[in-house]
Amino acid sequence: MKLKTFLGGIHPPGNKRLSEGKRIEAIPLPQKVYIPLVQHIGAPCEAKVEIGQKVKKGELLADSQAFVSAPVHASLSGSVIEIKNYPHAGGNQVKTIIIESDGLDEWVKEPQNGQNPLKLSPDEIKQKIRQAGIVGLGGAAFPSHVKLSPPKEKKIDAVILNGVECEPYLTADHQLMMEKPADIVKGLQIIMRALGVKQGYIGIEANKPDAVQAMQEATKEDSHIEVVGLKVKYPQGAEKQLIKAVLDREVPPPPGLPMDVGAVIQNVGTAYAIYEALSSGKPLIERVVTITGKGIKKPKNLSLRIGTLFSEVIDYCGGLTGEVGKILMGGPMMGLAQYTTQVPVIKGTSGILILPKGESPPTKAGRCINCGMCVRACPMKLIPSILGTYCERDLLDEAEEAQVLNCIECGSCVYVCPAKRHLVQIIKYGKSAILAKKREQKNKS
Ligand code: SF4
Ligand code: SF4
Repeated sequence: MKLKTFLGGIHPPGNKRLSEGKRIEAIPLPQKVYIPLVQHIGAPCEAKVEIGQKVKKGELLADSQAFVSAPVHASLSGSVIEIKNYPHAGGNQVKTIIIESDGLDEWVKEPQNGQNPLKLSPDEIKQKIRQAGIVGLGGAAFPSHVKLSPPKEKKIDAVILNGVECEPYLTADHQLMMEKPADIVKGLQIIMRALGVKQGYIGIEANKPDAVQAMQEATKEDSHIEVVGLKVKYPQGAEKQLIKAVLDREVPPPPGLPMDVGAVIQNVGTAYAIYEALSSGKPLIERVVTITGKGIKKPKNLSLRIGTLFSEVIDYCGGLTGEVGKILMGGPMMGLAQYTTQVPVIKGTSGILILPKGESPPTKAGRCINCGMCVRACPMKLIPSILGTYCERDLLDEAEEAQVLNCIECGSCVYVCPAKRHLVQIIKYGKSAILAKKREQKNKS
């Protein structure tokens, strides 16, 4: 198989061995779950339940009228004991429904297998995906029904399933492809039907030859789906880089989107959730998460209920090995640092990474020495050193002209920078300041 890729990028150590090949386990029923009303990109949900109300597993807890949003459901049966602002893995406090388990774990409606989603119309598929609260499980958490509803003038001719998992340490998608290859393929077929697309691809990095084989085996009856082997390089799983590698198409700069080049990308975990929801009626109440890093005693791949606290997951994995340097939701490149373990697993939690003291990167930044390494690493062909300087000095017009909005915040520049400049932090600040200025100008006009 000839391996495809994109220009630029970096080769950080994979560190996948800690959890690689470990079968997906469920953990015992939590006593409480903490379900935030914001777990997706888009409008927050409003609670549809009250304190004291009894709920069952799979029951709707909160929803929104907005198109770009996704409802949330109870991940166990019990009583709503509180609805209040509570710490969220995104870093702020978010309104959260807290449910105390009744120990029965009863469904509001038991999932029934045997339904054939391919008999549904595209609109029915999208409606059911929305009702099930499915969002992109690769980390971005963009509502899937929105991604599957491009404007009519955008002609989509390719769906790519993202099985790349290029973030170091994480193995949840890899393990899911090993354990559920046929269901993932059925999920892809449902997505293709929803979009009226004839050709599907599954992109997988070459460091997962067993997953490539499993997915090839699962797709051998469907000549419209191709498994594409990709070179091992970060950020191979970023949408633009994946489209370039698989289809050799360039997504235009912002506000350009994959649909502008006829492509829709979904994560393999999302395809699996779509298959489960449409074949049995099961809403998105759990997901596969990798718990890993040298800071945890027993790294694992776990199927976790949405709302389970990180602290409970850490206990199940044998606890910490010693003093913690950093806890991240996600991988080391794009993960979000956590200041407490009292935050719940949400739909976008692909991993919990625990780095021991001494292994987390230094926080003190030095001065740029103009070595050019960040330029060679940037997969978006930007000049990160200059962007950093412009944003630091609030030269927002210059930063915009230098294409700062095209930055995908992948962290490759930070990884290679010998001065350890906080380029992503600075660039993120610059991007949000530019976007705020644009919004203000639009409101005035
Ligand atoms: S400038 Fe942005 S896109 Fe380029 S390497 Fe840095 S974070 Fe990634
Ligand atoms: S890698 Fe760091 S030190 Fe080198 S040019 Fe880029 S910002 Fe400057």
